[in-house]
Amino acid sequence: MEICGGQTHAIMRYGLDQLLPPEIELVHGPGCPVCVTSLELVDKALFIASQPNVIFTSYGDMLRVPGSEGDLFSVRASGGDVRVVYSPLDAIKIAQQNPAKEIVFFGIGFETTAPANAMSVLQADSIGLTNYSVLVSHVRVPPAMHAILSSPNNRVQGFLAAGHVCTVMGYWEYVPIAIQYHIPIVVTGFEPVDILRGILMNVQLLEQQKFEVENAYTRVVTYEGNIPAQKVIQQTFMECDRKWRGIGNIPSSGWCIRPEYKTFDAENRFQVDDIQPVESELCIAGEILLGVKKPFQCSAFKSICTPENPLGATMVSSEGACAAYYRYAIDRV
Ligand code: SF4
Repeated sequence: MEICGGQTHAIMRYGLDQLLPPEIELVHGPGCPVCVTSLELVDKALFIASQPNVIFTSYGDMLRVPGSEGDLFSVRASGGDVRVVYSPLDAIKIAQQNPAKEIVFFGIGFETTAPANAMSVLQADSIGLTNYSVLVSHVRVPPAMHAILSSPNNRVQGFLAAGHVCTVMGYWEYVPIAIQYHIPIVVTGFEPVDILRGILMNVQLLEQQKFEVENAYTRVVTYEGNIPAQKVIQQTFMECDRKWRGIGNIPSSGWCIRPEYKTFDAENRFQVDDIQPVESELCIAGEILLGVKKPFQCSAFKSICTPENPLGATMVSSEGACAAYYRYAIDRV
């Protein structure tokens, strides 16, 4: 299983899965932050973005993610002030320029984006901003690996760990997982040769019956990771349970804002507790994100679910598995 949706897209784009012998099957993992952001949080984003005094800021990928009713684009079409930013620090600038408005940043992502989002909270605190908050949807890779490996439906015999996540976190967290589940884990990059190298190292470890963590992305990743970035994360966030879209609750799989920075937590600032999400009954994205099924096995794929009319987030995101199959492998159906 390649953890990251960016790796899935590289695999499909370059046809790497078709170069492999039939004994090796790649299954696609949950590492697409847009895809796993819970429907509940998307609905909360839609509610907050619809408030008259709010400027809602987000990475562009989130604007087309379907909530129970509509998406952030439809909120913008109805008059909501929804803006695409490329960094939470852009949202901080908007907050400084618009003191009479509430500025909310949709802080999604795995460990990769957490340091920047944490920095924005610390910066807002240090300059005394009172009109900035973050709707946090951070998720962590190791608890998801535990959930996948302990599932009775598990098919995964080796992991390609996500190189960018490991750039921040290192790979020390994966060592106990490799030992506990008897599974090799190889830290892998995103270029086609990186991915092929990760697969080769994984197969070699399997053949040698070695259940260890190896690093195939040494030009970027170290065992310890980026210690200052980890400190910023620890200062701002604490572990919490998190719902993953299509998968459900995974204990301790998220990061939430610490109580001392509660004033920057959008869920605390806006009354969003009683939102009840309604997911499409056709969408099997949860099974795809757990590596149990492939997009071709979804009855809605390509018929009623397309990038123009997505039923699930995995068809929207530039890292989503359904979008990768639609874009690069649609003629294989
Ligand atoms: S093709 Fe669409 S409906 Fe099917 S799993 Fe993917 S996102 Fe969900």
